[in-house]
Parts: sequence; C-alpha cells; structure tokens
Amino acid sequence: MGTVEHTAGGAILMDGKMVRDELIAQLAVTVESEGSPEITLATVLVGDDKPSKVYVGSKRKKAVEAGLQSRHVELGADATQAEVEGAVAELVNDPAIHGILVQLPLPDGLDAEAVLNLIPPEKDVDGLTERSMGRLVRGKAGHVPCTPLGVMRLLERYEIPTSGAKAVVIGRSTLVGLPQVLLLGRKGCDATVTLAHSRTADLVSVCRDADIIVAAAGMARLVTAEHVKPGAAVLDVGISRTEAGIVGDVDFDSVQEVAGAITPMPGGTGPMTIACLMQNTYAAYHMLKA
Ligand code: NAP
Repeated sequence: MGTVEHTAGGAILMDGKMVRDELIAQLAVTVESEGSPEITLATVLVGDDKPSKVYVGSKRKKAVEAGLQSRHVELGADATQAEVEGAVAELVNDPAIHGILVQLPLPDGLDAEAVLNLIPPEKDVDGLTERSMGRLVRGKAGHVPCTPLGVMRLLERYEIPTSGAKAVVIGRSTLVGLPQVLLLGRKGCDATVTLAHSRTADLVSVCRDADIIVAAAGMARLVTAEHVKPGAAVLDVGISRTEAGIVGDVDFDSVQEVAGAITPMPGGTGPMTIACLMQNTYAAYHMLKA
C-alpha cells in the first residue's frame, strides 16, 4: 500500500495531497516515456470569482508538473453567452487542444449547460456534459467527473474493499453525488449503494449501516461519529466557507475516533480532483489520437 499515516484515533488517513503527488509524478514519467508529446489542457475562466481563480491557477500549475501543456483563456465578468460559447468553440476546433475545462460556476446570467455541451466527449476532461454522463450511465468509454473519480482513486490507493460493501453517498448532484453512485455501483467496483439527500429520513441510521460514506452535501460537519459504523471509510467532499474557515461535511475530530479510514479536509478529495483532471487529459490525448 506504500506510505500510510494514521490519525490520533487510529484511522487510516487518506492523504489526497500525497496521492495526488504520486499520480502526477507517475503521469510525468509516462508522458516522458512517450517522447513528451504536446498534450494540452485548456482552462476557461469567466469573471472574477476568487476561489475559481485559485482553482484554475492550481490546475494549470499541476498540468505543467504532470508534463502537460496549459493554455488559459480568460473572459471578463461582462462576457456574453455568445462570447463564452465562441471561446469554447475555438478550443473545440483546435487540434492542438486535448482537454477543455470550463471553470464553474459561470457568472449569473450565463447558461453553463449550453457552454459545457459544446465540448465533445473526447475533450470533456471534466466529464460534465450530457454526452459524457450518458456514456457513464451506459458504461461506454469516456471521461468521468474528476471529483467522484478522485474518491475512487483514494479507495483503490488505500485498498478499501468495495465489492459487496455497503456505500452511502450523501448528495445527488450531477457534479458529484450521481456519478459517485454510478462509479461505486458499477461492475468491477460492486458496492451496494444508497443515495441520500436532503429529504432522506434518519440519515444517522442510513449511514450507520455503511462500510463507505461519501459526503458531498456542502453542509458543514453534517457527518458526526454517531453516523459512522466502527471501521467504516469516510470520504469528505463537502466544502463550506464558514467564519471559522473552510469546513468539510465530516466532523473530522469525532469521526476519526471511530472510522477505519478518513480523508482530511483540506488535503483529501480536493487534490485528488486535480490529479484526475490530469489523468483525464492524458487519456483525452490518446482518445483523440486513436
Ligand atoms: P449541490 O449541487 O448543492 O448538491 C448538494 C447535495 O447535497 C444535494 O443533492 C442535496 O440534497 C444534498 N444535501 C444538502 N443538505 C443535505 C443534508 N442536510 N442531508 C443530506 N443531503 C443534503 O452541491 P455539489 O455541487 O454536489 O457539491 C457538494 C459539495 O462538494 C459542495 O460543498 C461543494 O463545494 C463540494 N465540492 C468539492 C469538490 C472537491 O474537489 N472536493 C468538488 C466539487 C464540489 P437535495 O438534492 O435534496 O437538495
């Protein structure tokens, strides 16, 4: 399993930063072994949202570390739908671009779905378009959304058994919860998955039965020790900006006392999202070449 750290309570710490760095270093070696072809990830940023700027900045930096090229397109907060769609269409038609990432959310008034759906499945390295989702549902080759894919990579890296395991995913968005359910439940992974959401009755008992909990609700410290079966793996996707700083969906301090494995927040699923974006961009290059 390689290096493994434990929390004070004895749970395995699923260290997303460390695994991200491992995956990016491996990718850099692979790209170099193929003669360092120019594999380019294009990022599109619209407006002045500060967290979005930070996210795009770290994606561009990690692309370079992975041996990939980065192209960046930035439009002002007053960009029209036609301007944003035009910028994305240019990248779609540019054979030097292999992956396109449109940083969300777009400023109010812009139709993000219409923009995303311009991206063909091969270049949709974020896996968020209708066609990519359709491929995931049907089990066809395509890119899988990076955040739920990052959760799967952490489960693999820390050898958390999934076959026959009971998993609960909290949240049903197309960005995280729904694809997470599909990935955990698909053949080869073989978990039995329960999808929880804001109308779920008695979340505590739903979760307490689970071997794996993926929390993607965006509700600060929603999951506490009472939700967790001793020994379960708990992966925190949620990000809430509170007065006390950035907080996850999991109450780390109490949960790490009972869990068998837990992600830190920050430093868990977030860095894995970036690693998976780089892996998807590499895969995109080969899909487009085939
Ligand atoms: P979203 O579209 O707002 O979806 C949140 C989901 O959580 C909804 O399905 C909602 O249920 C459910 N939910 C809300 N409160 C709940 C509660 N008290 N109990 C049970 N379920 C509840 O959010 P998202 O885009 O999926 O993102 C989820 C969180 O992950 C956010 O905090 C986001 O910032 C974070 N995120 C992190 C990463 C990363 O890289 N780590 C990447 C993407 C997103 P209903 O459907 O019933 O409303």
